[in-house]
Amino acid sequence: SSTSTPITATLFPGDGIGPEIAESVKQIFREAEVPIEWEEHYVGEQIDPRTQSFLTWESLESVRRNKVGLKGPMATPIGKGHRSLNLTLRKELNLYANVRPCYSLPGYKTRYDDVDLITIRENTEGEYSGLEHQVVRGVVESLKIITRQASLRVAEYAFHYAKAHGRERVSAIHKANIMQKTDGLFLKCCREVAEKYPDIKYEEVVIDNCCMMLVKNPALFDVLVMPNLYGDIISDLCAGLIGGLGLTPSCNIGEGGIALAEAVHGSAPDIAGKNLANPTALLLSAVTMLRHLELHDKADRIQDAILKTIAEGKYRTADLGGKSTTTDFTQAICDHL
Ligand code: NAD
Repeated sequence: SSTSTPITATLFPGDGIGPEIAESVKQIFREAEVPIEWEEHYVGEQIDPRTQSFLTWESLESVRRNKVGLKGPMATPIGKGHRSLNLTLRKELNLYANVRPCYSLPGYKTRYDDVDLITIRENTEGEYSGLEHQVVRGVVESLKIITRQASLRVAEYAFHYAKAHGRERVSAIHKANIMQKTDGLFLKCCREVAEKYPDIKYEEVVIDNCCMMLVKNPALFDVLVMPNLYGDIISDLCAGLIGGLGLTPSCNIGEGGIALAEAVHGSAPDIAGKNLANPTALLLSAVTMLRHLELHDKADRIQDAILKTIAEGKYRTADLGGKSTTTDFTQAICDHL
């Protein structure tokens, strides 16, 4: 209720269209009386030596303290001697799982109208370990690291998620027929965790077959869990099934119960500052944050208002073929609350 103590959450408006779409989230949260107080943090203009990046130590501390936050897109600054902002967040906050819900938006026609799946991507290792070197001229090597600890952790999260959200099935996506040791270990860990969840069906699907099945009939899938690089690719494929990156939310889960929600798209410099951006992806990310906080009534209300606005079709931003500005679209959502 509105009389209870508000929850403090970190907000990074981010770069480019970030501040415009973050404003939209703030307005809709105010209108829906969501009991959240934002602690806003901006990307610095200088490298903070404590983080080796443009993100300040205070920003990271804010997320660690609040354990919950929302992040707009961050442009990757050009120049050397610093870490990428997204990598800094992932490493420093140990954001081990990236969760992307992907469902057909009623009224926004794509090839499918029955997509309802969740991809869960291991976010800390695999080919993304950054361990690459030249062996001799003309020969390079990249190390794909898979550990029991990180695999168990993400598998555990996937089954926990499935159970908590009333999902029936978890599919582990792999290429263990070729990557016998690495993907083999990943699968072994998934199987171990599956045994603790007898109510949830468990299956293993080879990634090439998974791509074919997703494109032919995405309704075949429920929750998918996979190593880092496969998750990177498959989650964008899934976004494409429902209308693109302007619509798809995500949430990063970290050690100690941290949840940092973010839109999947970038800072869109081509349309920044023009009141043209579609705030849906960031808004739906904010909704996943509310669900993480178990504020389901607020989450449902806001999600319904967004979906109704899009379905009605009167106010749509340019990326969805409409003519509305960010502020008009936001106002239309507020009117549907
Ligand atoms: P982008 O996602 O910013 O833009 C790709 C295209 O999609 C553009 O035409 C853009 O106008 C459009 N688009 C994206 N989001 C939209 C929205 N909400 N509404 C309407 N249209 C939208 O990708 P890019 O141009 O490759 O990257 C730009 C910057 O963003 C780069 O500096 C990149 O490093 C950064 N980036 C950050 C993140 C992140 O913070 N998670 C992710 C991707 C890219």
